[in-house]
Amino acid sequence: MEYEMVIGMEIHVELGTKTKIFCSCPTEFGQDENTHTCPVCLGMPGVLPVLNEKVVEYATRAGLALNCEIAHFSKMDRKNYFYPDLPKAYQTSQFDLPICTGGVVEIEVDGMKKDIGITRIHIEEDAGKLLHESAEGTLVDVNRCGVPLVEIVTEPDMRSAEEARVFAEKVRNILEYTGVSDCKMQEGSMRFDVNLSMREKGATVLGTRTEMKNLNSFRALVRAVQYESKRQIIELKKGHKIIQETRKWDDTKGVSSSLRSKEEAQDYRYFPEPDLVPIVIEKEYIEKIKSELPELPEAKKQRYIDEYKLPEYDAGVLTASGVTARFFEEAVSLYDEAKQISNWIMVEIPPLLKEKELTMENIPIKPAQLAELLKLVKDGVINGTSGKEVLKEMFNSGKNPDEIVKEQGLSQVSDTGELEAIIEKIVADNPKSLEDIGAGNEKAYGFLTGQVMKATKGKANPQVANKIIRDVVAKHLG
Ligand code: ADP
Ligand code: MG
Ligand code: ZN
Repeated sequence: MEYEMVIGMEIHVELGTKTKIFCSCPTEFGQDENTHTCPVCLGMPGVLPVLNEKVVEYATRAGLALNCEIAHFSKMDRKNYFYPDLPKAYQTSQFDLPICTGGVVEIEVDGMKKDIGITRIHIEEDAGKLLHESAEGTLVDVNRCGVPLVEIVTEPDMRSAEEARVFAEKVRNILEYTGVSDCKMQEGSMRFDVNLSMREKGATVLGTRTEMKNLNSFRALVRAVQYESKRQIIELKKGHKIIQETRKWDDTKGVSSSLRSKEEAQDYRYFPEPDLVPIVIEKEYIEKIKSELPELPEAKKQRYIDEYKLPEYDAGVLTASGVTARFFEEAVSLYDEAKQISNWIMVEIPPLLKEKELTMENIPIKPAQLAELLKLVKDGVINGTSGKEVLKEMFNSGKNPDEIVKEQGLSQVSDTGELEAIIEKIVADNPKSLEDIGAGNEKAYGFLTGQVMKATKGKANPQVANKIIRDVVAKHLG
């Protein structure tokens, strides 16, 4: 029997507000444990939450960017459960009236376009964090309690690990562009829960699903999907039923294991949060947020193709992250050779970043410095080979390209007198090449150019050198 996998995702995204959702504690990541707390986010009895207006704004912005309907009336609800990292014993979330519904994200896999439905986006608060590594036992850090989240829930529309990855990356890209979250997966700003079931190919009803929680890298997402789909097929082939359960993915071991089954899952006893007023949004408010949305990845990609005449591939790579797109745009505003800048960003920069374990987010060179370097190459001050050396040194020292060129004496030799002397000697030393050229073998020119580059340590201006070689050879051949 041939099986088909079905995937639906729940994505938790921490919103980049300065303060928490119901109090004025800061949301900053990486501070000392339990320092960003107050009676409200600690869930003391009798305190009153006040909704942070920015949360509504960011959720609206996220919803519009993902093509959702924004509700004119929504409300907060209490989701009751006890967990040591949630002192209130309930999470303030949204139940039946979420702020956004009915969105869509178009993905492209293997040249095929496909729509992935967004069922809903709701606002909620994050819980704290349990730290299990301590010698004293498990400790709790409640700094994260009350950090605002949106949860994005998709329709079960994905059919492969690749579709899931492309979708997840696209959502991250869009949200990063809108500025509602830094989307840093390594800091838990964005976490993916994957619901996965298998069914006979062609079947219309869904199979029983499992849910894998808190996947925090695209690699983990893909591996978890591959593992879980294989596991379910093996179970089904044995004639076993899939148990609807929550599973934990261990990325180090590359296996998943059961956390809790849905049968014993609690009833959350949702009820409307009595301490908060409903969220009422006017049409004008939605229109205003819509008009303020930045250019989104798709539109930007098209503009790069139209305005900068870049190939679709380049436009796709450059717009795949907001940080890269901003770097490119700043460089191109200073140096008007889009394709050349694109080549250097796509080809020369990535290996240097990798070597230093950096990303475009903390790249040690400025767009203006890249622009300056490329100008030096274009003006013939240095050649392309030296340009690459200079870039490497810019990464190491942070110095400006002209400074490095001066220090290392990398300026091209374009001085015809100097080159003529070198070339005369090379031609005299290689009579065989001269003979070959005389016999019509043009390849020998390449050999001579190589010798000139060697003699000048790669600094000869290739155009000037080639012209002189031809002149000298012609003179010798009479
Ligand atoms: P819950 O509230 O229990 O998490 P939902 O019905 O809200 O359940 O679904 C959560 C996610 O699971 C959604 O993304 C949905 O698309 C997905 N999903 C639901 N049923 C299936 C299924 N049989 N196979 C794969 N994904 C599913
Ligand atoms: Mg769920
Ligand atoms: Zn607080």
